[in-house]
Amino acid sequence: MKSKRLVGKLVVFGVGLIGGSLALALKKHKAVGAVVGVGRSRKNLLTARTLGIIDEIATDPALAVKNADLVLLAVPLGQTAAVLAQIAPHLAEHTIVTDAGSTKREVIDHARRQLGARFRRFVPAHPIAGTEKSGAHAAFPGLFADHNLVLTPEPETDADALRVVSAVWKRVGMRVTRMKAADHDRVYALVSHLPHLISFAAVGNIAGYDDAAHLFEQTGGGFRDLTRIAGSSPEMWRDICIGNRDAILSALDGYLADLEALRGMLEASDGDGLLAKFAAARAARAKWLLKAKSASTE
Ligand code: NAD
Repeated sequence: MKSKRLVGKLVVFGVGLIGGSLALALKKHKAVGAVVGVGRSRKNLLTARTLGIIDEIATDPALAVKNADLVLLAVPLGQTAAVLAQIAPHLAEHTIVTDAGSTKREVIDHARRQLGARFRRFVPAHPIAGTEKSGAHAAFPGLFADHNLVLTPEPETDADALRVVSAVWKRVGMRVTRMKAADHDRVYALVSHLPHLISFAAVGNIAGYDDAAHLFEQTGGGFRDLTRIAGSSPEMWRDICIGNRDAILSALDGYLADLEALRGMLEASDGDGLLAKFAAARAARAKWLLKAKSASTE
């Protein structure tokens, strides 16, 4: 039962960390027949084929999606509209299209516009799993195990398409949850997009000093932890920022107010104020981690 095939022909646009890892995981679980890869970089696609991530490289998007059961868009968000426009006229009646994009409202708007009547077979999804690495080389089958997958279906979304996409992500070990797209974009602006901005800014700040080389030499584990995610793809993060601009701006305003408050306490040498702030943050973090630990052992 466990190894029942869920998808015959899977077409992956963007065989990078996310698209490549899903293909590998589905193959590992014997849940897919054949995987066709479509990409922007020939070299990356050749790597993907050599690594056994994809079975076939397609150069023509229209031919690639012919008779596909599932099409996954795992491209940088700025490419979504163009890829949807390329494939829309060539999708079969039964083909399901899904995505893995880190923002949802913008993707849904593009899909509704580009897919027209076929929008009902589009299932918006976001796997909450990743690393700071990019490309087919970075893909690995265990990436999604024990992480959440957020589906943000619209009223038109076809129940059968939703069931198939849900089953696909469950098969690779994800906990499938649902949110409204606007709620998703607000939540992930706060817990993911803003932290990436902070991390990029922390590195950029040090890099801007005349003695940056010396400063980087002096860094320790704290700076390394804070800035791991600044190793992420700049293109991907530009597209996420532009695509979720309003929610990120509002998250940033809240954060800047917090920093401003800390600055005020520092200026006033308000040790008690700083202590209270740090203690509250430390307690909130401990509570969050305890809850996460007990949830994972339930
Ligand atoms: P990646 O850079 O590893 O892979 C993206 C791939 O898309 C690259 O191989 C690139 O060559 C290819 N590509 C670019 N334009 C294309 C086009 N027009 N047609 C076909 N292929 C194209 O990126 P990734 O980390 O796998 O991210 C892919 C998507 O998943 C993004 O939308 C991102 O928001 C989302 N996502 C990423 C993470 C993460 O942590 N990296 C987590 C969850 C969701």
